Amino acid sequence: MHFYSLNNPSHKVSFKEAVISGIAPDRGLYFPESIAPLDADFFENITSYSKQEIAFQAIHQFVKNDIDAITLQEIIAKTLDFEFPLVELEENVATLELFHGPTMAFKDVGARFMANCLGQFSNKKEVTVLVATSGDTGGAVANGFLDVEGVQVVILYPSGKVSEIQEKQLTTLGQNITALEVEGTFDDCQKMVKTAFLDDEIALNRNLTSANSINVARWLPQLFYFLLAYKQAKSKGKDIVFSVPSGNFGNICAGMVAQKLGMPVNHFIAATNVNDVVPHYLSSGSYTPKPSKATISNAMDVGDPSNFVRIQHLYDNDFSKLKTVLSSYAFNDTETREAMKKLKSDSDYIADPHGAVGYLGLKEHQKKHPNVYGIFLETAHPVKFLPIVEETLGIRPDIPPQIRAVINKPKKSIKVSDYDALKSFLMKN
Ligand SMILES: *Cc1c(COP(=O)(O)O)cnc(C)c1O
Repeated sequence: MHFYSLNNPSHKVSFKEAVISGIAPDRGLYFPESIAPLDADFFENITSYSKQEIAFQAIHQFVKNDIDAITLQEIIAKTLDFEFPLVELEENVATLELFHGPTMAFKDVGARFMANCLGQFSNKKEVTVLVATSGDTGGAVANGFLDVEGVQVVILYPSGKVSEIQEKQLTTLGQNITALEVEGTFDDCQKMVKTAFLDDEIALNRNLTSANSINVARWLPQLFYFLLAYKQAKSKGKDIVFSVPSGNFGNICAGMVAQKLGMPVNHFIAATNVNDVVPHYLSSGSYTPKPSKATISNAMDVGDPSNFVRIQHLYDNDFSKLKTVLSSYAFNDTETREAMKKLKSDSDYIADPHGAVGYLGLKEHQKKHPNVYGIFLETAHPVKFLPIVEETLGIRPDIPPQIRAVINKPKKSIKVSDYDALKSFLMKN
């Protein structure tokens, strides 16, 4: 199995090389050269497989040239050592809770999988993982890569635009993890990261790679969630749809790869906040990136989602084909808060703002398709967005032990104001 650049399909590399370099030299995202469907039997009997077996079946074809089966089993065991429960809230409405990992955000799985792959590949050469975060990525990456030998991690985050808990999760670990606090927006952070990857002077000094969902080792394992949800919902015997709160569109794109693997799910809903490039595209046919706007679901404040090209590619860049599998709706902060209140009062469920956007997307779809069994992804634990949850619901959720452990540790970050400051940091250290 090779991975090719979406900018130039004749540029092919191994999984290992795609993971180490993150993005192709022509700035294209890497994409698997084929996606072979799994046996129909696998889906028929999915309830008899453990989550580790399901993950192994799903990802083996993509990595097998570079990771032997035993090592892959070990990586999966380390990645999936927590639960992914499907919780039913209303008739035909369930949420898949992806927040039971070490940093209580769904990005734990991708970050851990990638860290373990990179740990296998780095050998004696030091690798620097450079990553921009709008909130949750940073903590998950910091945690997943902590103490991985041969890997330095540099995280850029927008000053004052991530929650206190998120900030603590990425600034308190120390060791091989450095947090750079950027005076600017998430888009500014992402731009600086992209520029650094193309900077030849930095390349001479360091081996840089990304741990954003651009990196195939972080992006692909997210398809596990959809299979694990399917396993839990299959006995309903209904048509299943997924509603995915989306920012960079990596998670939903991985779900669509699960569909290409043969998962019997016909439709996906990309739910966004007011950063609505994709909903706008699906209704108008014109794709117009915009500067991101700040919202209460800040992990989705993305004005030009990097994985959307992968989704388009999955459906042969055919707009009408894409529209049959994907719907997309945008919601503002007021609607999001209303949904949080409704979930609390009707189902006694505390959703975080991202999950609430997913719920809204699902309900919108069910207006026209009332009989489908809808699963919305709850991508973060509500305490990760504590001030918003408190202010909206007037309650104080219990702080889980994972979070309590970081909240009193001292923050350590380095302020950077522009690209030159990032560059001189990367040249010096
Ligand atoms: C990253 C993130 C998202 C968006 O996921 P994408 O793969 O970027 O679309 C949604 N919710 C939370 C809590 C996140 O951290």
